[in-house]
Amino acid sequence: MDFSISEEYNMLKSSMREFVKRELLPLEKSFLERDISLWTEPGPQIAKADMERLLRESKKLGFWGLEVEEKFGGQGLGMLAKTLVQEEMSKSFVGFSFHGFLLPPDAPNLYYLHSCCVGNQREKYFVPYCENQLDSAMACTEPGAGSDVSGLKTTAVRKGDKWVINGTKTFISKCDKENLFFILIAVTDKDAPAKDRFTAFLIDRDMPGVRIGREIPVIGAMPTWDLILEDVTVGDDAILGEIGKAFIPLQNRFGVRRIEVACRCTGMAERLIQMMIDQANTRTTFGEPLANRQTVQNWIADSTIELETVRWLLYYAAWKSDQGIEDLRNEGSMLKVAATEMLTRVADRAIQVHGGVGLSKELGIEYVARMVRIWRILEGPSEIHRWTLGRTILKQKKPYNGFVLAKDNGD
Ligand SMILES: Cc1cc2nc3c(=O)[nH]c(=O)nc-3n(C[C@H](O)[C@H](O)[C@H](O)COP(=O)(O)OP(=O)(O)OC[C@H]3O[C@@H](n4cnc5c(N)ncnc54)[C@H](O)[C@@H]3O)c2cc1C
Repeated sequence: MDFSISEEYNMLKSSMREFVKRELLPLEKSFLERDISLWTEPGPQIAKADMERLLRESKKLGFWGLEVEEKFGGQGLGMLAKTLVQEEMSKSFVGFSFHGFLLPPDAPNLYYLHSCCVGNQREKYFVPYCENQLDSAMACTEPGAGSDVSGLKTTAVRKGDKWVINGTKTFISKCDKENLFFILIAVTDKDAPAKDRFTAFLIDRDMPGVRIGREIPVIGAMPTWDLILEDVTVGDDAILGEIGKAFIPLQNRFGVRRIEVACRCTGMAERLIQMMIDQANTRTTFGEPLANRQTVQNWIADSTIELETVRWLLYYAAWKSDQGIEDLRNEGSMLKVAATEMLTRVADRAIQVHGGVGLSKELGIEYVARMVRIWRILEGPSEIHRWTLGRTILKQKKPYNGFVLAKDNGD
């Protein structure tokens, strides 16, 4: 067992730390101010010119395509490298919150495309996606089916040599992006069991019959939209993977996103713990610094214990992915629950340590508290993860981790 992080990865981490200091921290004030005006004046939370500079600079520093193979123009490093870098980036509210910009290309769809693209899909979608010339969104959720994808109603019906797609998706992110395509999940055999019922299609946003509906306001600056499909007609070349076999790659894709959500949580928890420490050491009440109060010490100790526990689960999952293990459903579920609930508690304690100023929109802690509330639902609510994990463990034929209780034979 080797817990060391290679020199190359440490250099990447340090380089991102510098990027955060130089590029992201100076934007925090305007970022939080813009958050206040977002609902009355919709639009990007980061000014276009700033976003362009951030993208340019992060590319120059080699942060793009960390897990993309070198033959496709990436760095060929893998999930652990990306985890370390994104964790570091998430120490700024700006990096923590980038919607649609988590160092291109956005990983979950990258892994999905990598494992399922065939024929000219590689040139048409995968390669431009790796180079950030195309963006993509997952279109799965529907008004009647979120956690329970078996209730999806959008259909793709075979007509001659074409597929005709009809249905309504909801809560779909990134619909405002240019050069966007969707990985759209549709029912191709309604009578089949869930594992054979759904097919993934590559659908361009500007295809005839594709319509972006109303924008759905939610807390925490993560806009989503309804997506309406009316007789969208595509050929077999739009099928991503095999007909009827979208279920497993979809679950694997969710696994990648859950790891990503976790590294955003650990990065931000580290920032909030540092804010708690600074506040506890400088704020005096009743003649003593807060740092002398046992309750405050416990908040900081508990937050650190919880952060470090999640961090090692996270690095282990990323390492497993780098060993070529695609099925990270269990790790993803454990991390999603552990990381989002950890950050929820840390943010709450951080607000409490800061008192009134902790609630102010200037400090950013309340912003984190709102963002993490989304993540306890997005990519599967905690209850679903506990449920599926519990069922998986209970169904296992072998003893958990090989442990067998000695039988009491009455001796
Ligand atoms: C900001 C945001 C962005 C999103 N982006 C996308 C996107 O890009 N693409 C996309 O396809 N979807 C997206 N979604 C949808 C998201 O994935 C779903 O909201 C999520 O999967 C939960 O589904 P639901 O909202 O239908 O809740 P439901 O499935 O209706 O569940 C509601 C609640 O019921 C409880 N529950 C449900 N089933 C069980 C059970 N078996 N056991 C115990 N409790 C249970 C849980 O507490 C759950 O929170 C987004 C959502 C948000 C909020």
